[in-house]
Amino acid sequence: MATVTAERVLDALRTVTDPARGGNVVAMGMVSGLSIRDGEVSFSLEVAPHEAGDKEPVRAASAAAVGRLPGVKKVHAVLTAAAPSRAGTGASGRHPAERPVAAKADIPGIRTILAVASGKGGVGKSTTAVNLALGLAAEGHSVGLLDADVYGPSIPRMLGLEGRRAEAEERTLLPLEAFGIRAMSMGFLVPGDTPMVWRGPMVTSALQQMLRTVRWGALDVLVIDFPPGTGDAHLTLAQTVPITGAVIVSTPQDVALIDARKGVKMFEKVAVPVLGIVENMSYFLCPHCGERSEIFGHGGARREAVRTGAPFLGEVPLDVRIRETSDAGTPIVHAEPAGAQAKVYKELARTVWDGLQRSAAKAGGPTISIE
Ligand code: ADP
Repeated sequence: MATVTAERVLDALRTVTDPARGGNVVAMGMVSGLSIRDGEVSFSLEVAPHEAGDKEPVRAASAAAVGRLPGVKKVHAVLTAAAPSRAGTGASGRHPAERPVAAKADIPGIRTILAVASGKGGVGKSTTAVNLALGLAAEGHSVGLLDADVYGPSIPRMLGLEGRRAEAEERTLLPLEAFGIRAMSMGFLVPGDTPMVWRGPMVTSALQQMLRTVRWGALDVLVIDFPPGTGDAHLTLAQTVPITGAVIVSTPQDVALIDARKGVKMFEKVAVPVLGIVENMSYFLCPHCGERSEIFGHGGARREAVRTGAPFLGEVPLDVRIRETSDAGTPIVHAEPAGAQAKVYKELARTVWDGLQRSAAKAGGPTISIE
């Protein structure tokens, strides 16, 4: 079977002209986030936000051109709204030089990348990301944790590192260490009381910087605590980072599950394997009488997983010690390593680790990268 290469895909895209810009989509610098996996090709076309409505024919033509290549099984082409200066010619009318395609370049030293995401905020995504990271470390893996939740970074507090600053050395940032894992967060770069407005493209570039200019060293797995939601910035992040697999955290309520479904769809759109759904705050274990109450109607995530075709990874109880230990900056897996809650997270860590290895093997090594 014909092998699909980045060169062939780019050649196909060079046959597609954007009439408004008067050149092909590659020369106009519109193509980004190209990735090829098992004959599935995904990429985005960057357009200025005001153009988004007009560019659908160009997107469709690009998808069709790539789809005609031998060996291509599926094409995921999305439009991404970027700042006007980055998207094509802008107001000057001049064509920019063909700029390098921003692709999913691998990050040296990092073997696998796990995205922990949720359709909406407040479902316990960060709590899960932290305890999962500590569970993976407890299994003997070297682990990094990147807090990509730039809107409300909570990792510094959860790791007991609130108020600490990341130091720079020879233009690289040094991650902070806690409980045997390395961590980076916007909270280590910008003081918490600084008013900041993040626009989509800025979020992406801030994250790229945290990802690529941090001296992570050798890692078996980098856990990324995604921002909550499934908007454009998420899509771009999912496309420009070589994610090995994603985990979606949800609570059992219907409203949360509808959002979880969007999360699964988002990763599928950009050909990132969804390792499965975790049901957080699944049931309540009374610390006094030991009785189990299913406050939110437990089991919804399992049903949702079946419906979306994603595996169900497990359930984490609603437990006051999980909240107290997070708030105190000593997550439960570290604070009570022999406890029932830590056991849940460690089991989850093993399942996720296996999923990552399978996904990495299936991808046949690093995803294609062009710099
Ligand atoms: P998100 O990242 O989805 O916004 P957080 O991880 O910040 O959510 O969790 C929101 C709140 O819920 C925090 O106060 C956290 O301590 C608490 N929490 C999360 N998971 C649990 C759980 N399983 N049991 C009890 N409290 C939890």
